[in-house]
Amino acid sequence: MVVQSVVRGVPTGGELYTKLNGLSPGQASMHSYPEVRFLLSAASTQQFPPDIGREVAVAGRSNAGKSSAINSLTRRRALARSGKTPGLTQLINFFELAPGERLVDLPGYGFAKVPPKVQAHWHRLVGEYFATRNSLTGLLLIVDVRRGIKDEDRALLDWSQRRELPVHVLLSKSDKLTHSEARKSLESAAAELGARASVELFSAVNQQGAEHARDVLEAFLGHKKPGGTGGRTTGSD
Ligand code: GDP
Repeated sequence: MVVQSVVRGVPTGGELYTKLNGLSPGQASMHSYPEVRFLLSAASTQQFPPDIGREVAVAGRSNAGKSSAINSLTRRRALARSGKTPGLTQLINFFELAPGERLVDLPGYGFAKVPPKVQAHWHRLVGEYFATRNSLTGLLLIVDVRRGIKDEDRALLDWSQRRELPVHVLLSKSDKLTHSEARKSLESAAAELGARASVELFSAVNQQGAEHARDVLEAFLGHKKPGGTGGRTTGSD
């Protein structure tokens, strides 16, 4: 299956990468993070690690496939634990990809059974994170391709827009749809997002979009292409 679909009005994978990194399209790389490690979980801003270097946040509704996406991006089987009780863990998990570079797992949202108090805590914690975190350089937003973009996703898009943070949406679980269904969903998400975010199909099962998503992560972290200055890549799986 074609990995990066061309969607009207939306940069293709290559174009997006070019835009972000000044590189020519089609230069997919094989990023990996040999030193990746869990740093800490924070329930409040006071517990965040020092606000230095660069970090990229990953967010999504409960069960959207966020943990699976993090594991796929970092090529780890169980860095982020998947299959937890949805929506009840209101912690921000920080992972170190390399010295001074972090991946930040934001708590899931949108789970119907979560009490209002927990929802309010999510809003406060994640809202403060977006409002105050200087080292935050990009957001990867995980959206279940079968569900599409929901209100809580829009809140994150708004927070990102407010601080001009680049956002890349991964339409997850694309393997669960036919090619034409997935394409339709991609086009409708792209139409809604417009210039606010780039978007692509993604599957943690068959790895559709995974390599390009790693390129975007690298670009958000300020890296150049493999072999270029500042590039950090190390072969394959
Ligand atoms: P999270 O709650 O957003 O962290 O979601 P998880 O990563 O735990 O995934 C929720 C469920 O969806 C799990 O049963 C995963 O195995 C499944 N899942 C996640 N990503 C994919 C995918 O790309 N394809 C398919 N078929 N299932 C997926």
